[in-house]
Amino acid sequence: MTQRAGIFTVADMTANDVYSPEADIWGGVQLAPAVRAEMATKVYGGGATAVRALDAVSLAIPARRFTAIMGPSGSGKSTLMHCMAGLDDLTSGRVYVGDVDLGTLSDKELTRLRRDRIGFVFQAYNLLPMLTARENITLPLDLAGRKADRGWLGRVIDTVGLGDRLKHRPSELSGGQQQRVAVARALASRPEVIFADEPTGNLDSRSGGEILAFMRAAVDEMGQTIVMVTHDPNAAAHADEVVFLADGRIVDVMAAPTADTVLEHMKALGS
Ligand code: ADP
Repeated sequence: MTQRAGIFTVADMTANDVYSPEADIWGGVQLAPAVRAEMATKVYGGGATAVRALDAVSLAIPARRFTAIMGPSGSGKSTLMHCMAGLDDLTSGRVYVGDVDLGTLSDKELTRLRRDRIGFVFQAYNLLPMLTARENITLPLDLAGRKADRGWLGRVIDTVGLGDRLKHRPSELSGGQQQRVAVARALASRPEVIFADEPTGNLDSRSGGEILAFMRAAVDEMGQTIVMVTHDPNAAAHADEVVFLADGRIVDVMAAPTADTVLEHMKALGS
C-alpha cells in the first residue's frame, strides 16, 4: 500500500493491503475512528411524555474492530445504532461517519452515504427469494451501478465459505447460511462500517457461532469495522469491546469480553 501522510479510511485501501493487528495501524498511519458520536441526544415526543432515548452520548467506534453494544431493553441501543447509521436523526449533538457530519447532509446525500459507506445486517436476513445467494450478495452493488472489486469480492466469497451453494436460492439454504449471505452482502461494497442489529437473534447457537466467526474473520482478516447490537453475552464475547448502555447513557466499556464477564455485568445493570 502506498504510504501517505494524514488520516485515511478503510475505503482508501485496496484488496491486497495487509492489516497488522499488533501494530494497530495500516501502512504506518493511525486510523481515525470509523464513527463518532458527540453529545448525541435523542428525545422522542415532547412535554410530560418525552422520552430521552439517548442522553449526551459521546463514543468513538474504532476502525477495524468489532464493537458490541449491550444494555437492558429500552436502554437506547437501537436508537444509538440508528442514529450512528444515519437512519434516524438526533435531537442535539453530532454523529460523524469518517469525517462527515451526518447532520449537515440532505436526505439525498444521507441516502448516498448509507449506500456507499455503510453496510447493514438485520435479524431477519432480508434476502430476495428469486435471486441466487451470489446475486443477493452483489445486488446492492448492481443497484448502485458499481462494479464489484473482483479481488475483494473473491475474498468475501471465500470467507463466506458457501462453495457451490452460492447458486442456490435462499429457500434452499439454512437460516445460518442465509445470514452468512446477508453478512457477505453487507461486506461486498467494502463499507467503512457494518451495523448488525441482533444478527444471531433468529439462529440456533451453532449457526449463530458460525455467523460470529465470519464477522470476526471480516474484522481480523479483512480489516472491516463492525458494530453489533446484541443482548446475548455469547455473541458479545466475540467482540473486541462491549459498550454498555443504561437509560440512554454509556455506563461502561469492557475490553476483551468473555461470556461470563459480560453476563455478570449485565446482571449488575439489572437486565
Ligand atoms: P433498546 O434498543 O435498548 O431496547 P430503544 O433505543 O429501542 O432501546 O429505546 C430507547 C427508549 O426510547 C425506550 O424508552 C423506547 O421506548 C423509546 N423509543 C424508541 N423508539 C421510539 C419511538 N419511535 N417513539 C417513542 N419512543 C421511542
